[in-house]
Formats: sequence, structure tokens, C-alpha cells
Amino acid sequence: MEEKGLCNRESVTHEIKCTGCKNTYVGETTRSMYTRENEHSKSLSNKEERLALWKHCREKQNSEIQQFQTNVTGVSSNNVILRQISEGIKINNVDEDSLINSKSEKAWTISMSLTCT
Ligand SMILES: [Zn+2]
Repeated sequence: MEEKGLCNRESVTHEIKCTGCKNTYVGETTRSMYTRENEHSKSLSNKEERLALWKHCREKQNSEIQQFQTNVTGVSSNNVILRQISEGIKINNVDEDSLINSKSEKAWTISMSLTCT
């Protein structure tokens, strides 16, 4: 089997760093990072309310759209529960002051893991 690059691989965990202030967004996707990244930048230029990255720009960067740097941090499991838990752990590992994810998202991730168990 041919090795795919991480950016084209499906089901990955990732970190998105704001180049303006080095704050980090932790996430995972069942699709490829490439697809997800395109989606993010589209929602960002549309200033979509639900997008955490835009919320970050609005609240922390005077509504100026920042450059974001994406890093694939790993390949996520096919198991939904394991995936949710590992994302929850990664979110908890980031210093709260530099975390872009919303608190509710953090709570949601954790409660999801609990509900699914
Ligand atoms: Zn920032």
C-alpha cells in the first residue's frame, strides 16, 4: 500500500496555531486535514460565527483575521470514544490562557466521552 502524506490522510488530530499570538486550537477530524483546512479558511473569510478561529480573531486580535498554522499531531483512532478522549486530553494539556477552543467545547468533548462509555 502506498503511504499517503499526513495532510491527505483521513482521521487526524491537529493543532492550529495563531501566528499572531501563538494561541492554539486543538481539534480532530474524520476527514483529511487538507479538506478541513480549506473549510477553516473559507469559514474564516466568511467570518462565520460558529468558527472558534474567527471568534479568537474577533475577541483577541481586534477582529483582524490572523494567519493560522496547522500541524497534524497524529492519526486518530477509528474508535469514536478513543478519539474524543484523546482530544479531551490534548485540550486539557494546553494552557488555558492560550487555548482557542471554547470552554463549552472542552466540556462537550469531555461529556461526550462520558456519555459514550
Ligand atoms: Zn491570536
